[in-house]
Formats: sequence, structure tokens, C-alpha cells
Amino acid sequence: MSDTIERIKCLIIGSGPAGYAAAIYAARADLKPVMYTGMEPGGQLTTTTEVDNYPGYPDGIDGTTMMENFKKQAERFDTDVRFGLATKVDFSDKVGGIHKVTIDGNKIIEAEAVIITTGATAKYLGLPSEERLKGGGVSACATCDGFFYKNQDVIVVGAGDTAAEEATFLAKLCSKVTMLVRRDEMRASKAMQNRVFNTENLEVLFNTELDEVLGDTVVEGVRVVNNKTQDKHEITVTGVFIAIGHKPNTELFKGILAMDDTGYLITEGKSTKTKLPGVFAAGDVQDKEYRQAVTAAGTGCMAALDAERYLAALE
Ligand code: NDP
Repeated sequence: MSDTIERIKCLIIGSGPAGYAAAIYAARADLKPVMYTGMEPGGQLTTTTEVDNYPGYPDGIDGTTMMENFKKQAERFDTDVRFGLATKVDFSDKVGGIHKVTIDGNKIIEAEAVIITTGATAKYLGLPSEERLKGGGVSACATCDGFFYKNQDVIVVGAGDTAAEEATFLAKLCSKVTMLVRRDEMRASKAMQNRVFNTENLEVLFNTELDEVLGDTVVEGVRVVNNKTQDKHEITVTGVFIAIGHKPNTELFKGILAMDDTGYLITEGKSTKTKLPGVFAAGDVQDKEYRQAVTAAGTGCMAALDAERYLAALE
């Protein structure tokens, strides 16, 4: 066998909560999982500050430490965690078939079962000031970070269901929420829009875009621009929540696995099974609805159990 080909039982692609939960369960089931972390080991949680909503951490924990703990726990049961990026997949469509996954363009892993936990990436606007102040008041997750802005003024950028949900969630904590909507109407469902318009401390600015986030190391305000009149004005806020959608990390699986029209992997019923036998998906890569660390970890566990049952049935 060539050095660049390795045969294993169970491969996990991605290292967020779903990946590590899958690893813990798969390792304890003696599937000897190998995990490739991707370019952002630990996933999205490593870009948040404090995690206060994961059960078991009564005092909260920072995202990076939490993911290090996930990793330690997976390694305690001998998960082989490796830094590397899956660059190509050649999945079998037969029960018991071998799935080939290329890592970093050169090494080939041949696996009997593959668990995909490549997650999703929050979209940002791409402004330099937004990039500079990520973690200093710019966030893409109100559920994760909203609490830090209690009794303060914040803005939310976006007009879909996520933006509407985040804005109404924040309105319960913050003094005032201003939503920036780039068109003269919102994309969010009517029910969500009603919730927005019925919230007293929530103001919607239509035809308005974020021009710049103000502040050197922490957010001190924003400059917004009316895209009809080009008028600009500043708003004093301490938090900026970008809610313009997420992009599932599924480029690699295009044309191979079933996806919905926004690129999320489709799994069968309540299971983590994809349309190909022995290929499972868990976490945000297949969930645009809940997107929480705890729900991702839950589906990661499910994927390992599904993989274990699949492999057991082959024997
Ligand atoms: P969407 O793609 O539905 O909405 C993204 C929003 O961001 C749009 O309003 C869009 O504006 C706006 N936007 C995009 N780019 C920019 C930009 N550069 N500047 C300003 N605004 C921008 O994403 P969501 O995350 O809201 O929702 C994703 C899916 O998940 C949807 O199907 C949604 O229904 C679903 N969902 C359902 C929930 C529920 O049912 N409770 C909760 C959350 C999500 P424009 O409208 O002008 O294109």
C-alpha cells in the first residue's frame, strides 16, 4: 500500500461540536475514528467569546477553551485528530463500498464510513472596519453574544428570518435595536415581520446599509447610508450584529450529495443518513434552523450511532 493511501473504518471531516461529539461516540464504539480538522480547528465557536448556553458550564466558558475540551475528550478515547483539509471526495454508492477522501490534495483516506461535519460560515459584509472589530462588538450570533449588550444600543444588519429573530431576541435585552434593511421591504416571513413591527424598542431603517463600523478596538457606533438619497448619518451603538445568512461548507459535495437550494446537505428523516450508504452528515452543514453548539453536538452523536449501526450491519 502506498504511503499516501490509508484505509480506516471511520472518517470525520470537520472539528466543531458535531465533529467532536461524533468522534467521542465513534471512538467509544471502537470505530477508531480519524478526524481531519479543516482550516479552522474547533469551527465557528472559536470565533465567539463567551459561551453561556452550553449545558454543563454553569459559569460559562470561552469558545476556544470549550473546543479544546471537546478535543481532549475525543483524544482520551483515541480519536486520531489531524490538521488537514478534505479537498476531494469519491464516495461509493454501494452498501459496504469504500469512500475515498483526498486530504490536502495528496493523501487519500479510504473509509468504510464518513461523517461530514464541515459546518457553515456566517456571511459578513466585507467592510475592513467590520473585520477589525470582530470580537470587539461585531458578531454574527445574537444568541451567543447578545447577553453582553444588556441595556445597551445595538444594530442588526439583514432582513431575513434570522435578522428578524435576532433583532427581536436582542430587543428583550437591549435598550434599543436598530435594524438596517437594504431594500424597501423585508425578506422575513410575515409572522416574523409582525413581531419586528410590534416590538417597541426596535426601529427598522429601510433602504439603509452599513457604511462603516466606528471605533478602534471596540465598537463605538456605526455610520449608515441611505442607498436612495446617499445621505449618511451616525448612530451610537456598542454592538453590531450581522445577520445576512450563513453559507454551508458543502462545495466539496456539490453534485455528489443531495442539497437544498441553499446548499445545506439533506439527511433522511430524523437520521443523519445522506443518500449514500455509509455517508452521514451532522451539525450546521445539515441544519439551517437551529445552529446551536448543543444541537450540533446532538446530531454528531446521532451520526456516530448511525455509522456504528451501519458498520455493524455489514459484518
Ligand atoms: P436569508 O438569505 O433568508 O436572508 C438574508 C438577508 O440578508 C436578506 O434579507 C438579505 O437582503 C440580507 N443581505 C444579504 N446580503 C446583504 C448585504 N450585503 N447587505 C445588507 N443586507 C444583506 O438568510 P437567513 O439567515 O435570514 O435565513 C436562512 C434560511 O433559514 C431562510 O430560509 C429562513 O427562512 C430560514 N430561517 C428560518 C427561521 C425560522 O423559521 N424560525 C429562523 C431563521 C432562519 P435582501 O432581502 O435584500 O436580499
